[in-house]
Amino acid sequence: MLPEIEQLLILQDKDQVLRRLRNDLKKMPPDAEAAKARLAGATAAVAATKEEAQRNEVAIKSLELQIQTRRDTIVKLKTQQFETRKNEEFTALAHETARYEKDVAKLEDEEMGLMETGEVWQAKLQEALAHHAETEALVKEELGKIKQRYLNVTAQIKEFEGLRGGLAAQVPGELLERYDRILASRGEVIAELNGHVCAGCHMKVTAATFNEARAEKQIATCPNCGRMVYIAHWDD
Ligand SMILES: [Zn+2]
Repeated sequence: MLPEIEQLLILQDKDQVLRRLRNDLKKMPPDAEAAKARLAGATAAVAATKEEAQRNEVAIKSLELQIQTRRDTIVKLKTQQFETRKNEEFTALAHETARYEKDVAKLEDEEMGLMETGEVWQAKLQEALAHHAETEALVKEELGKIKQRYLNVTAQIKEFEGLRGGLAAQVPGELLERYDRILASRGEVIAELNGHVCAGCHMKVTAATFNEARAEKQIATCPNCGRMVYIAHWDD
C-alpha cells in the first residue's frame, strides 16, 4: 500500500468518527425540543381539564342560586297563603307555590346531572395530573441524559479534532487540499477497489485506473466519483 494512502486512511478514520459525532450533536436540540413539547402537551391537557371542571362547577353554583331564589319565593308565597282570608287568593297562591316547587325539582335534577359530570371531570383531572407527573419525571430524565451526552460528545469532538489536526499536519499541503476537497463533497475520500469496482460509488473503474492502483507508484483516482482508490488485497 502506498504510504500516502496508509497515512490518509488513518486521517479518514478520524474524520469519519468526527462526522458521526457531529451528526449525533445535531440531533440533540431537536430531541430536547421534542421532550419539552411532550411535557407542554401534558401541561396543556391538565389546564384544559381543569377549565372544564371549573366550568361545570360554575354551572352548579348558578343552579344552586336559581334553586335558592325559588325556595325563598316559596316561603314568601306560603306565608301569604296562610295569611289570606280570601279563598280565591289562597288557591291561586297554592298553584303558584306548586309551580315553583316543580321548577325547583327540575333544577335539582339538572344539578344532580351536573354533579355526576363533575365527578367524571375530577377523575379525568386526576388522570391528567398523574400523566403530567409521569411525563415531567421522564422528560427531566431525558433532558439530563441529553445534556450529559452533549458534554460527552463535545469533549470527544475536541479530542478527535486535536488528533485530526496532528495527523493532517503530517500530510503534504497539496495532497491534504485534495483530500479535504473530496471529503467536503463525498464524505469519504479513500475507497477500496473490490476487483475493478470502486467501493465508494460502486462503479467499475477503467483498466488503466486498476493498473495504476495496482502499480502503487502514485495515487489512483476513480474516474467516476473522484475518490482516491487503492487495492487492499490482490492476488496475481
Ligand atoms: Zn468511485
